Amino acid sequence: MSRIVGIDLGTTNSLVAYMEGGFPRVIPDAEGHVLLPSVVGFTADGILVGDAAKRQLVRNPTRTIYSVKRLMGKGYEDVKKELRYFPFHVVPSDEVVKIRVADREVTPPEVSALILRALKERAEAHLGLPVTKAVITVPAYFNDSQRQATKDAGRIAGLEVLRIVNEPTAASLAYGLHRLKEGTVAVYDLGGGTFDISILRVKDGIFEVLATNGNTHLGGDDFDRAVVDWLLADIKARHGADLRADLEALQELRLGAEAAKCRLSFEERTVLTIPLPQHGFTYRREISRAELETLIEPLVQQTLGPCRLALADAGLSANAVDEVVLVGGSTRVPLVKRRVQELFGKTPHSQLNPDEVVAVGAAVQADILAGGITNMLLLDVTPLSLGIETLGGVMSVLTPRNMTIPTSAKELFTTSVDGQTVVDMHVLQGERELVKDNRSLARFELSGIDPMPAGMPRIEVTFLIDANGILQVNARELRTGKAASIEVKPSYGLTDTEVERMIEESFVHAEEDVASRLLIEARNEADTVIRATERALGQGSGLIGQEETAQINGALAALKAARDGSDRDAIRAATERLNQATLHLAEVLMDSALKEALTAKRVTEALGKPER
Ligand code: AMP
Repeated sequence: MSRIVGIDLGTTNSLVAYMEGGFPRVIPDAEGHVLLPSVVGFTADGILVGDAAKRQLVRNPTRTIYSVKRLMGKGYEDVKKELRYFPFHVVPSDEVVKIRVADREVTPPEVSALILRALKERAEAHLGLPVTKAVITVPAYFNDSQRQATKDAGRIAGLEVLRIVNEPTAASLAYGLHRLKEGTVAVYDLGGGTFDISILRVKDGIFEVLATNGNTHLGGDDFDRAVVDWLLADIKARHGADLRADLEALQELRLGAEAAKCRLSFEERTVLTIPLPQHGFTYRREISRAELETLIEPLVQQTLGPCRLALADAGLSANAVDEVVLVGGSTRVPLVKRRVQELFGKTPHSQLNPDEVVAVGAAVQADILAGGITNMLLLDVTPLSLGIETLGGVMSVLTPRNMTIPTSAKELFTTSVDGQTVVDMHVLQGERELVKDNRSLARFELSGIDPMPAGMPRIEVTFLIDANGILQVNARELRTGKAASIEVKPSYGLTDTEVERMIEESFVHAEEDVASRLLIEARNEADTVIRATERALGQGSGLIGQEETAQINGALAALKAARDGSDRDAIRAATERLNQATLHLAEVLMDSALKEALTAKRVTEALGKPER
């Protein structure tokens, strides 16, 4: 027996869910966390996925891969402009994107496969069953190559991907909007780094995506940056310190700003406390929800333009939309909810956890495929027009954008040169007239045509787009009765041989990867304790005696030595000894911090705890 799971493979976080007795459940890891950070760390000793990888991000930026979803199914040319966002090294090449980590090169599907494998293992541990089949969600605007790359990732991870489902469709399913007799739904998805708006139509239980729009570089991270900039100016004014070049301080400010922003979703005001021992002061600042709203208002406004464009594409006015669904952690921000409500003139659905709603919908879709829910079809839409190159470098469209899928289209073409026996087929995607302005998806040859005068051959080209949004192109010469049919492989996808090699490799390295992960986790923990101790020694100088300081320094040096070796148990033992040695210092610091924190505590208690 096995179970079909639903997976939200996100830019920032990924989740896995399944249906149990008609109810969706999001599967937690052993510590109870449901969000798996979509971060993969490569170290000399092995591979880390999730929180452990995220923790080493600052320390090991060139070997820690995040936001790999942005690179899926893309060629180097496509991502050149994005590279400034990534500290890791993307290798220049003519074909599929590769990332160099130390002495090896990995492709985005391989990296995503590591995330998927971690989710698969999590689900297997939770269910006590093998998990070999999955539904995976992708943004509605993902093109053929990006969908194919996502499927490849599933295969490399040992998962049969039964269906690729659009994220907004999944979110609507989670809210049971398929039960609407007829209506339109707007799905507003604002995450950490991306914004998507999708307009769907539901009719008799059938979903159809009418239009999509968005901004691939707008989200909660920008809210955090706005707060950090404001804090930097305030610190400069009040303490005379310019922290813009201090990376460690900036990281602390960013974490503090994000935490304060999240608290302000549930409280009217909050206090930010950031110890800056290296600058000799602790920065404290009260921030109100109104102040936050002033800072982020321009960013929230930036989401409304794409909403209006999507509505125009769908041929709808804002108040003609029947239901609005909120997805993504940043839709917890009250200002975001308010602006969306004003635009559409109705209260949006926000009862479900906005981080989990897509995974829940994927689980609902998995259940439909398993036969648990009947009478429902899912229809999505092609995000961009598809066609082929014709004489003079012009794109001839076969399927216009926003076609409901699955779909097919057929058209006749001919040759332009006498005696031509081979025709170059160039498959394109995009909305522009000229080939050079559109995106090249694939090239292939139709050969074996009998020599004829130009204009005589009748070449029938068929486009088939399956329910996953994956395109197959066939070409056939009708006049001679000879037919040649060609299957298109997207040029930015991986070849079957490459996928097979990756599957094999992941099996070969499985055991050593586990041992290495444990060692790396021990080192990570050691690093955390070392950093905390060094900071505590800085803050506590003068609060403890010389002998105690010497003892702590001894344990600290011992841990640093052990940390550089590769004996996991020795690192653990040294970490524990340092923990013991600093117990008293921690108490002393706590006492003095407690005095400082009392004012802040009163404020939060009076307003209640955030429900996050
Ligand atoms: P996602 O990409 O959907 O996981 O969303 C992540 C973003 O949501 C990050 O920018 C978080 O800071 C933000 N977020 C999470 N919880 C809250 C909250 N309570 N209030 C405001 N933003 C939040």
